[in-house]
Amino acid sequence: PRLANQIAAGEVVERPASVIKELLENSLDAGSRNLQVDLEQGGVKLMRVRDDGSGIDKQDLPLALSRHATSKIVHLDDLEAVASLGFRGEALASISSVARLSLISSTGAEHAWQARAEGRDMETEISPAAHPQGTTVEVRDLFFNTPARRKFLRTERTEYTRIEEVVKRLALSRFDVGFGLRHNGRQIHSWRPAQSVPEQERRVAQICGPEFMKNALAIDIERVGLRIWGWVALPAFSRSQADLQHFYVNGRAIRDKLVSHAVRQAFQDVLHHSRHPAFVLYLELDPASVDVNVHPTKHEVRFRDGRNVHSFIFSSLHHALAEVRP
Ligand code: ADP
Ligand code: MG
Repeated sequence: PRLANQIAAGEVVERPASVIKELLENSLDAGSRNLQVDLEQGGVKLMRVRDDGSGIDKQDLPLALSRHATSKIVHLDDLEAVASLGFRGEALASISSVARLSLISSTGAEHAWQARAEGRDMETEISPAAHPQGTTVEVRDLFFNTPARRKFLRTERTEYTRIEEVVKRLALSRFDVGFGLRHNGRQIHSWRPAQSVPEQERRVAQICGPEFMKNALAIDIERVGLRIWGWVALPAFSRSQADLQHFYVNGRAIRDKLVSHAVRQAFQDVLHHSRHPAFVLYLELDPASVDVNVHPTKHEVRFRDGRNVHSFIFSSLHHALAEVRP
């Protein structure tokens, strides 16, 4: 089973940023209101995520670290099949197969418990610990036992930047949650839960830059079962930033051709400029009409009625931009 874990780990644990994404998503799933991320050496030496969520019961700790489903991989020939499997319920197990993992958690009912798992050593030891309600996951020495994979890591700076992008993307998806990010002992970001629109806009300005917010048009448009809200930058925002394009579908960050086409088209039609538009946009629709789990590690979606979604995004932005056109 360890071989299978390490192969699966290649899918979900590509680099430190993918570990952070899984850990933060777990913390958010657990209903946390505040998350603190601590990193050393771009996350390769240490990644620690501390949350104030529901916590994990003592008896569930070993379960959290084990693969929920028994491995379907019998031969290496089956590797191709792995790519098409879902990796849900396997993130922590996959991470612990390629790093030293410690999980300290308290549900608030009694004192905390700690579980450790490390590389091929499948034994999970559980011991008493101290921790307020919530969970701290520590991942040390990523890829210590898979040198081939370690070679693919980039510089500390690059790995850090990728983590920062993941944290920013999630911080934009959950204004109601506080996020902190520390690297090599220095607190880099600290975003408190944003309740009001001005507080949300302050967070957007901190993440996307004050220039973006200064030139942003706030939009919020609703039409039978569809809502789009957020901020789009007006032409005065001169920096051409292809990476300043954040699109969320029902709270999940996605990159989608249909979506970016609709946005680009609206900008081109109204403002006649061809460079990449900058935006932070949230599309909300009936969860039954969109499949966000096309692939767990990619940011793809499949809309049941893509044409309708495209026309809604296009016409909403077109309408909003046309109103402010000089
Ligand atoms: P998945 O999230 O797909 O269930 P994971 O391997 O990421 O799989 O996590 C396994 C389980 O461990 C989760 O289902 C959850 O019950 C528990 N867990 C992990 N992280 C946390 C956390 N921060 N707070 C509470 N429970 C957690
Ligand atoms: Mg998970």
